[in-house]
Amino acid sequence: MRRQLRSRVAWKRTRIVTPGGRNVFHFKKSRPAFHVCGQCGAKLNRPRLLRTEIRKIRKTERRPERRFPELCPACSRLALKARVK
Ligand SMILES: [Zn+2]
Repeated sequence: MRRQLRSRVAWKRTRIVTPGGRNVFHFKKSRPAFHVCGQCGAKLNRPRLLRTEIRKIRKTERRPERRFPELCPACSRLALKARVK
């Protein structure tokens, strides 16, 4: 087994039986953690992509084009109201 594949954190493994009857592992890079709101910790609706895949999508697909993109809608609404006062 390749040395980098031994990490169980970075690589997911599934056991596959080949057509010839051999048991082999297939390796898949594990997904990064969910994006969470900076204030309440709620899960955000953002793509969970590897760094190489994020580079391929548009910037507008990575985050919302509004104020406080790091907050969930409820928290950003409160933050906007606090700004107005
Ligand atoms: Zn929030």
